[in-house]
Amino acid sequence: MIHPPPRSLRLRLDGESLAGNWRALDRMSGDAQAGAAVKADAYGIGVANAVPVLREAGCRTFYVAHWSEVGDMLQHAPASEIVVLHGPTCPEDVEYARLTGVRPVINSLHQAGLWLDGSGGPCDLMIDTGINRLGLPPAEVGDPLIGRLQVETLMSHLASADEDTPQNERQRRLFEELAPLVQHRRRSLANSAGIALGPAYAFDLTRPGLSLYGGVPRPELAAEIRQVAHPQAAVLQLRDLSPGDHVGYGATFTADRPMRAATVSLGYADGFLRCWAGRGALRFGEALLPLLGRVSMDMVVVDCTAAADLREGDWLDVPYHLPQAAERCGLSQYELLTTLGRRFQRSG
Ligand SMILES: *Cc1c(COP(=O)(O)O)cnc(C)c1O
Repeated sequence: MIHPPPRSLRLRLDGESLAGNWRALDRMSGDAQAGAAVKADAYGIGVANAVPVLREAGCRTFYVAHWSEVGDMLQHAPASEIVVLHGPTCPEDVEYARLTGVRPVINSLHQAGLWLDGSGGPCDLMIDTGINRLGLPPAEVGDPLIGRLQVETLMSHLASADEDTPQNERQRRLFEELAPLVQHRRRSLANSAGIALGPAYAFDLTRPGLSLYGGVPRPELAAEIRQVAHPQAAVLQLRDLSPGDHVGYGATFTADRPMRAATVSLGYADGFLRCWAGRGALRFGEALLPLLGRVSMDMVVVDCTAAADLREGDWLDVPYHLPQAAERCGLSQYELLTTLGRRFQRSG
């Protein structure tokens, strides 16, 4: 067995902050329990790193979107704690749920039919209260097929919880009105931002995702939530630039003075997208190293004049305080996390 050398990209997961964020969100959920959205490989952090930490903190409900995400999850959590948001779209999905023991969310009459034709055990039910994306329309909640479901958690999803809009209260009220029409054990409405809307939104179970991983969708969360993902990239090469030298594809940067530049092993294929060009800076200790020219697939070039002691092979921090980074580059905090690529060495 030949072991590969260490990678030139690493993503350090701050487990203490992850656990602390979950505990804070659980506390802010009041009498409700907090679960965890761990879809898209725990928002890019890595299920293998995140789920053991969240279970240790006390989390007992984990949401993935796809059935293809269940296999990974089963390495780290019992089937009874795993819920598949997209629900069954074919008989094979239902059979897979039966074999694994994982619970689906039923989102439509079609899905209810598939589920009842198959194993038909406990499931969750998503009712749509205004996002018009995925979930049973209010007019279909009284359908006899729905009456035959064994609903564990009755759910709905907020469309604009990160904004102050009357839509939040409208959705909450409609959820309360519709809930008595379906037999269920627990109710769940709030995502991360929904938790910050207050106890009326928490019901029995909350479903934070973004804020577990350091995202701050509402200012009320800023004091509680800490950064979890810390990306770092290695310096591949150093060079001196003379006035008039261009850097990178398209020669979009031209040096106007003698400069020192570092080529770094981080590119758009790693989730460091081209929107960072001209706006971003990497960090070496306290020194900020601004990007020069375009972001390439596997590399960026930074001005390292401010870091005289920088050497090839040194590690640079990629500033990833999510609210600040989102403001700076124009991506959402969700996109910043979930586009982090597969070449990072993820570690706890
Ligand atoms: C992704 C998702 C969540 C988590 O939302 P965040 O905004 O990341 O906290 C909760 N519920 C459902 C149905 C989701 O799809």
